[in-house]
Amino acid sequence: MPPESSGRAVIVGASLAGARTAQALRRGGWTGPITMIGAEPHPPYDRPPLSKGILLGRADRAGIALLSAEQCAGLGIELRLGRPAVGLDPVARHVALGDGTRVGYDALVVATGSAPRVLPETVADGPRTGVHVLRTLDDALALRESLSAGARVVVVGGGFIGAEIASSCRALDLDVSIVEADRVLMGRGLGTRLGAAAAVRHSAHGVRVLLGRRVARLHGQDRLTAVELDDGTELPADVAVVGIGSRPATGWLEGAGLTLDDGVVCDETLAAAGVEDVYAVGDVARWRARRYGTTLRTEHWTGAGEQAAAVAATLCGTRTEYDPVPYVWSDQFGAKLQIFGRVRPADEVVVLDGDPESDRFIAVAGGEGRLQGVVALNAVKAAIRLRRSLSEGASWPSVIDDLRS
Ligand SMILES: Cc1cc2nc3c(=O)[nH]c(=O)nc-3n(C[C@H](O)[C@H](O)[C@H](O)COP(=O)(O)OP(=O)(O)OC[C@H]3O[C@@H](n4cnc5c(N)ncnc54)[C@H](O)[C@@H]3O)c2cc1C
Repeated sequence: MPPESSGRAVIVGASLAGARTAQALRRGGWTGPITMIGAEPHPPYDRPPLSKGILLGRADRAGIALLSAEQCAGLGIELRLGRPAVGLDPVARHVALGDGTRVGYDALVVATGSAPRVLPETVADGPRTGVHVLRTLDDALALRESLSAGARVVVVGGGFIGAEIASSCRALDLDVSIVEADRVLMGRGLGTRLGAAAAVRHSAHGVRVLLGRRVARLHGQDRLTAVELDDGTELPADVAVVGIGSRPATGWLEGAGLTLDDGVVCDETLAAAGVEDVYAVGDVARWRARRYGTTLRTEHWTGAGEQAAAVAATLCGTRTEYDPVPYVWSDQFGAKLQIFGRVRPADEVVVLDGDPESDRFIAVAGGEGRLQGVVALNAVKAAIRLRRSLSEGASWPSVIDDLRS
């Protein structure tokens, strides 16, 4: 039984998933108090523009706001910003904040997202001007400031965010290299064949793509001067951006009785295992995905909003399972890359139209007898059509037969 909708809802994490949960709770008829607690000093803002419009100077702070302090006040949502949650007592039902206060709840929603991984100390020994990560608005503004004309940039990590940063740097006409330990670019999202094509595309746009290499050491006393790779290559650099993935922000939940395993482990309704009336949404949630018969955790903008809607519906009295076709997009070199579903290393990939090394293509991936993923670059309409087959769980042979007939 979910708690009464006149109870007190507390949301920890004041960003996309948290803000969307608060809004959906009010829309769904939650009449009780809602408190949203955020570690950052800013009201909720959108992260995708941080690696795109903000770096390019085409978007600003106001343009990426998700929910202003005034809108929160209008919805009766209490915002407590600049104060991280540091602990949870699910028996006494309160959250402890860094300033020593406690906030009681009837329903708790964990929306603390993820935090960037950093280089080991053997590689980056101490702080140096010029070394950045990109997760927050403050990170993005600091990085933007350092991207002055003529700056030489090394992006460490060739995932989506690294690839977007490289693309933005090229748009600013900067010298940029990507160093990726894997043999393929964006391999986790695109698989081997399409990831290899993406590396060709990045090279064609002027990015130096160094695959199968790791960063061995950062050079420079107080300011970065070069990035040394594990084969001895030294890349002169003024700026390094470390984009080597992120970890779910669950440190504050250690020992609280929740099941933590690369995220807050939840059931199909995003209810946290091991405790009552606690839910997780967004990058921090690992939920039981019926569609795949396994647990999943994604770091996708669309999923965060959908999860917020599902949890709010459950809390407002309509038990709602979350079983989506995962979706992520990425903007690089003026083209929109979209991935519906998933592409795993062993999946068969068939290119239906266009050329993956160019600025337009559409491809499907299949495995275990089913259509598993659709990948499109600048082919939005065709991708939406195939998405239906994906959500219906279409068999791989039937998809291939249809396409050949
Ligand atoms: C640079 C960048 C570009 C992206 N581009 C895309 C894209 O093109 N397409 C796409 O699909 N996705 C993209 N994403 C991913 C997308 O932005 C995330 O999936 C989304 O932000 C997840 O929302 P969230 O609310 O779960 O987590 P977050 O947005 O990470 O928010 C979590 C919030 O919780 C706060 N917090 C953490 N710990 C505590 C604590 N103990 N107490 C209180 N507050 C805490 C954090 O400070 C943060 O404000 C991008 C992400 C980044 C960083």
